[in-house]
Amino acid sequence: MLYPRRCPICADIAMPKGNLACDICRERLTYVGEPYCMKCGKPIDSFEKEYCYDCTHKRHHYVRGRALFVYDDVMRKSIAGFKFHGKKEYARFYVDEMCRGLGEYIRYIAPDYILPIPIHKSKLRTRGFNQAELLARGLGKRLSIPVLPKLLIRNRKTAPQKELSDVERLRNLEKAFGLDKRALRSMAGVRRVMLVDDIYTTGSTIEACTKLLMAHGFNEIYFISVCIGKGY
Ligand SMILES: [Zn+2]
Ligand SMILES: [Zn+2]
Repeated sequence: MLYPRRCPICADIAMPKGNLACDICRERLTYVGEPYCMKCGKPIDSFEKEYCYDCTHKRHHYVRGRALFVYDDVMRKSIAGFKFHGKKEYARFYVDEMCRGLGEYIRYIAPDYILPIPIHKSKLRTRGFNQAELLARGLGKRLSIPVLPKLLIRNRKTAPQKELSDVERLRNLEKAFGLDKRALRSMAGVRRVMLVDDIYTTGSTIEACTKLLMAHGFNEIYFISVCIGKGY
């Protein structure tokens, strides 16, 4: 290899050399452990509970989802490097860890296809890649599940979501996604798919894509993400 690998956590050369991440840095990562929400996979604060605050208060149409890391400051920095500073190579570490931590879960679900959450083409142009597609392709290859990156499309840029209420946010997002007609035809008979994204926070992106897919005959939608917010 010409260039030594950068650690997705400290952004320096991963030590010992040849590793995907530094041994020392790995200790700073917070993996989602039990108890976690049975619906969205967010870590929760009690074994007495089944669902997180969000999932007790609103209905999500996907079957369920899981995530690997808690979206804390360490992961925030890592994902920012990955998405906004061209650190494509971090995908390999995320995929590796997802296979280790969630591979069994994904095999158990056995989705017919893995679908990355799309980004708008103007973003694709500036970023050069869709982070979710890199993750989906990596997972698909490792777990031998077909990936269809062309089915979901991002029609338009979404207005800044911060000032919007949950309902407005979802409505706004629902209009932002579409399905590619040709790809859709190739999926006749497919019912179970798994969406892939880098971060799950409010779940509105996953929900918007789920509702769109369900309106077109897919009836079991799962998701998986690299990181997720806390559910309490
Ligand atoms: Zn490091
Ligand atoms: Zn939840």
